[in-house]
Amino acid sequence: MKLRFINIKNINIVILIIIAFFISFNSNFDTSLEEFEETARAREVLLREHIQISSSFIKNMAIYGNLFFENEDVIDNKYFNLLTYEADTNIFSLDSIKGTQYENDAGNITGLGQIPERGTVRNEINLALQYNMFFSSHYKKYPDVAWLYYTSESNFINMFPWISSKDFKFAENLKTVEFFKVANPENNPQRKIVWTSAYVDHAGKGLMVTLSGPVYDNDIFKGVVSLDLTNVWLKDIINSNYDSYLIDETDTILATSSKSLNSDQISKIYDLSEVSKNDVGKMKSYEKDKVHRLGGYYFYSASFDDTPWNLFFRVPVWRIAVESLVTTFPILVISLLLLISIQQVHERKKSESEVKKERELFKTTLFSINEGIIVTDNNGKITLMNNIAEQRTGWKKQQAYGQDFKNVFDSININTGLKSINPVKYVLETKENYDFEQNTALISNSGSEIYIRGSAAGIISDDNLITGVVVSFKDMTVEYEQEKEIEEFLNLNLDLLCFTDTDGIFHRINKKFEDVLGYKAEDLEGKSIFSFMYTENSDNLVANTADENHIPADFINRFLCKDGSYKYLEWHTQPSVGKYIYYSARDISKKIATEKRLREDAFKDQLTGINNRRLFDTIIDNEIEISEKSNKPLSMILLDLDNFKIVNDTYGHLVGDELLKQSAQTVSGIIRNSDIFVRYGGEEFVILMSQTSEDGAVLLAEKIRAALEINIYPVTGRQTASFGVAVRMKGESFENWYQRLDEALYKAKRSGRNKVVAASSME
Ligand code: GH3
Ligand code: MG
Ligand code: MG
Repeated sequence: MKLRFINIKNINIVILIIIAFFISFNSNFDTSLEEFEETARAREVLLREHIQISSSFIKNMAIYGNLFFENEDVIDNKYFNLLTYEADTNIFSLDSIKGTQYENDAGNITGLGQIPERGTVRNEINLALQYNMFFSSHYKKYPDVAWLYYTSESNFINMFPWISSKDFKFAENLKTVEFFKVANPENNPQRKIVWTSAYVDHAGKGLMVTLSGPVYDNDIFKGVVSLDLTNVWLKDIINSNYDSYLIDETDTILATSSKSLNSDQISKIYDLSEVSKNDVGKMKSYEKDKVHRLGGYYFYSASFDDTPWNLFFRVPVWRIAVESLVTTFPILVISLLLLISIQQVHERKKSESEVKKERELFKTTLFSINEGIIVTDNNGKITLMNNIAEQRTGWKKQQAYGQDFKNVFDSININTGLKSINPVKYVLETKENYDFEQNTALISNSGSEIYIRGSAAGIISDDNLITGVVVSFKDMTVEYEQEKEIEEFLNLNLDLLCFTDTDGIFHRINKKFEDVLGYKAEDLEGKSIFSFMYTENSDNLVANTADENHIPADFINRFLCKDGSYKYLEWHTQPSVGKYIYYSARDISKKIATEKRLREDAFKDQLTGINNRRLFDTIIDNEIEISEKSNKPLSMILLDLDNFKIVNDTYGHLVGDELLKQSAQTVSGIIRNSDIFVRYGGEEFVILMSQTSEDGAVLLAEKIRAALEINIYPVTGRQTASFGVAVRMKGESFENWYQRLDEALYKAKRSGRNKVVAASSME
């Protein structure tokens, strides 16, 4: 997702969002603060209720006590006779109630001295036992109240719930303890119910505070009825997820949500160094039941009519801010999403208008160009076509739109007569563009044919899907007809015709290329003409070939055929001034072959098949020159059949011919490849040997002589020959050399024939 916020049109929206964010933040801030206030107030109310319940309970107990003494006829309580006296300690107690059915309904009275027989103390003990009933029911409702008890000026105490006298019993110093002191006439002449400060319980119930109410018999102070509230219980009441502190008039903490206070520890609120003394003072003076900002905190404070306590709740400003931010966050997210969607709508509108513009341009182009254009959707149904397409297909737009492309565009291959490939289908299936094959004809609605060339291409969407196909085509009828004429003309020609670009790449060939060399146009497409030319010129027959660097106007070469063989072509080229070179070529393979044969025949002896005198005359100068230059010996053997005239005379010319042939064959079988064997005259032969000394030549002559000698022919019998051998001397003329040779032969004849005579032996 692309976001471009810095956009003039969006700035207003961004400002709006910022405003909305702040409004929302502020209102959430207020809400968070209200939540704080409400939580604090709810806790305050709960505490106030409990204070009230405790107060009214103790008040009621005190009143009950006062009324109790107005009644003179006191009947002993049902637990009275369970009191026991223990002489050792001089203490009476209700220890014996333990294990009885009354156990849970009674406290434990422990008192100094004997159980009183009669009088006001006995009455007072009955009051204390009477209290058990109320203590029990209050305790059941509020089990977190630590102790409920009546402490008598007459030295006894009733503790509820029951506790063994071993663990706790009356002692006189109890009357000096805070809970008793605050309520006695000296400190409490108005006979109010009064709270102590916080203290730590003697009986192990931790930090607590006591509410005491005095009990009077008319004007005589009798004792104090008390109720302990533990720190644990108070903490439960004021606890919330904000900091809370319940302090007494001495700023001692009665309860706090702060974990830094132990439940049996007496601490001033500022001892915890959480709230300064100064702040506490301010908080006490501020209007109650309201939230106040003090430094980095919001405070809520409350006070209570019946107690000297203050309750504080505290929350850091940052916490309210963070909470507001957290609750505002979804709004911010929604705003951002809104902004994004606005942005997207905006961009879509923009791109829609761009697309519209493009479409207009496309349409204008479409309808002004000189090609037929048909556009289909991705199902191949026509959605658009231009006037040219209308004319060429013979379909009206209104009829064509929605039609399958192939119904409107009926095309065939003129050469094969087969239906052409459906270009739209091709593009949709292969996702590739399609070029119409050559020789495609479009058959219009009315049956008329035009030759066309064209292509089809997919319309690709941003997400790379083909959403349609554009088919464009051109009427090529005129060009095609011209082309056909040219083609026909080219093909009429007996020669191979082609043209290449200046790099020799084939552009066009006529049909003769196929007839003569086997190539179709596509075989040569993109290939260089020179890559088919045989460049080795060893056969002396190709005079003047061509290559990339030099293209003569006329040349002959061997040209590779499709079947791998070569043909001799005689070329005429016309390098054009432009970018093409025109070639015409004729197959001269037959002519060359004939020439070659004729040339070979000219150097061959017709009777024996070996080289003739003409060959010898052609090469001898060259051989002499090579020998002369290389300083290598050149030797010659002259061979003359012995008494051949007699053979002819005796057996006839034909038998003589046959014997000549046989003898030549015998010699051919002995000489080396490098030796040139020539029929020099009627029954005279010459063997020319390069790089051969006279001795070497003599050896060969001797070998030939022996081979001829051992042959016994069926009719004529043995046919020997005589040999003259001579090595050419440096600078010697052929005539001189031959003469020496002839003399050697003559000598061989004279000395009895069937002999080899070296010219050197005669000097
Ligand atoms: P020599 O050389 O041993 O002295 O005796 P010769 O009988 O061979 O004498 P010479 O070389 O002078 O004679 C050559 C004879 O070879 C003459 C001719 O009848 C015969 N002759 C030459 N050419 C041919 C030919 O082409 N065919 C046949 N059948 N005979 C030929
Ligand atoms: Mg002879
Ligand atoms: Mg002869």
